[in-house]
Amino acid sequence: MPNPWDKIVGTKEYNKNYERLIKIARQKGYVFNKKLSRVKKVIGLMTINYLEYGKYYCPCKQSEPLNPEKDVLCPCPTLDEEVRKDGHCFCELFFKKEKK
Ligand code: SF4
Repeated sequence: MPNPWDKIVGTKEYNKNYERLIKIARQKGYVFNKKLSRVKKVIGLMTINYLEYGKYYCPCKQSEPLNPEKDVLCPCPTLDEEVRKDGHCFCELFFKKEKK
């Protein structure tokens, strides 16, 4: 069974969101998850939310169904705190850079 986000990966909207998020990662000194399948899933589902609701709602913290009044946008306000505590954000998209 194909994943619901497979269709969106590689589209113009997906790439636009990818670029937006990688810029945030660079600014904050984070990196994306090394597992590409996870990156595709999180960014793909977030892009689907964008296409449906016009904003980048976090796909891992959203209500089911999404609640535009209540659900958080990515980057969420607790991103830095989560990375500090767990080494990555709740969605496992942004990770702390490993020390070389
Ligand atoms: S947990 Fe926060 S930073 Fe991570 S993808 Fe969701 S909204 Fe973005």
